[in-house]
Amino acid sequence: MNPPKKSPYLLQVVDVWHLTPNMIRVTLAGDAIATMQSGCEGANCKVFLPEAGQSQAAFGAQLMNGPRPTVRTYTVRHMRVEDREMDIDFVDHGDAGPASAWARAAKIGSFCGFAGPGPVKVPEFYADRYLVVADMSALPVAAATLEAMPRDAQGDAFFEVTHIDDAQDMNAPDGVRLHWLVHPDPHAPSTQLIDAVHAWNWPTGTVQTCIAGESGVIKALRSYVTGEKGLAKQDCYISGYWKMGLIEDEHQQMKRAEAAA
Ligand SMILES: Cc1cc2nc3c(=O)[nH]c(=O)nc-3n(C[C@H](O)[C@H](O)[C@H](O)COP(=O)(O)OP(=O)(O)OC[C@H]3O[C@@H](n4cnc5c(N)ncnc54)[C@H](O)[C@@H]3O)c2cc1C
Repeated sequence: MNPPKKSPYLLQVVDVWHLTPNMIRVTLAGDAIATMQSGCEGANCKVFLPEAGQSQAAFGAQLMNGPRPTVRTYTVRHMRVEDREMDIDFVDHGDAGPASAWARAAKIGSFCGFAGPGPVKVPEFYADRYLVVADMSALPVAAATLEAMPRDAQGDAFFEVTHIDDAQDMNAPDGVRLHWLVHPDPHAPSTQLIDAVHAWNWPTGTVQTCIAGESGVIKALRSYVTGEKGLAKQDCYISGYWKMGLIEDEHQQMKRAEAAA
């Protein structure tokens, strides 16, 4: 028998600001964070969203007893277990998505539910060259992965952001070159990241990747990296984080159907 599912934790917003024009950093706090693992930056988590105007007491009861609120997948950007705080970076893509809308409206004292974190995406570093590719939604996992790399790591990181001011300071090894590409309308398709990876001088030796972003782009990159270049599954973190025109639940359904096919 499966053990009963743990209820999500209720966390409070203790800080919120635009880190860059299209990225909102939300600092969440709560006693439950003291029970979590430090060093989980880059791991994904689930954020449960209250309805507009819902009281904290009503939302807390809903987290425990259901029905399940709207839930979205995010990345732990910073974890400070000792301070019982963590940061999550939300792409500000307008009010059409409940998570983006929640982050845009969040204030000190706002609240949400939290489940996770899961395992980190790139737990070991052993490559001769690294290839990191991210759009805005995957900047948190890319930043955490670059931070965790050995300081003598070498490679390239390609980022696509909505505005050049969305480029963030990255604590990357000196040998990993950072390339910032701008695509001003994230709702319109872009092939810049695909073109950049095709133009990358694929090295001999072991390559490890951390690649994530819009699903159509990721599909093309997966076919190139694992198909044409033959990269082994264990050397390759590559994941579609959102899909143009689909809400997250529809996107996840699509991923499950593709995996089963
Ligand atoms: C493992 C994992 C980790 C993730 N980590 C992060 C993270 O740290 N930060 C982050 O911002 N996102 C992250 N994402 C992506 C995030 O889950 C999706 O962007 C999600 O759809 C946002 O929910 P929403 O309620 O704002 O929009 P939804 O209700 O899901 O979608 C509403 C509309 O907005 C569009 N949309 C969704 N995301 C974007 C976007 N980024 N840019 C433009 N349009 C969009 C959809 O196509 C849809 O048309 C992660 C996804 C995964 C799978």
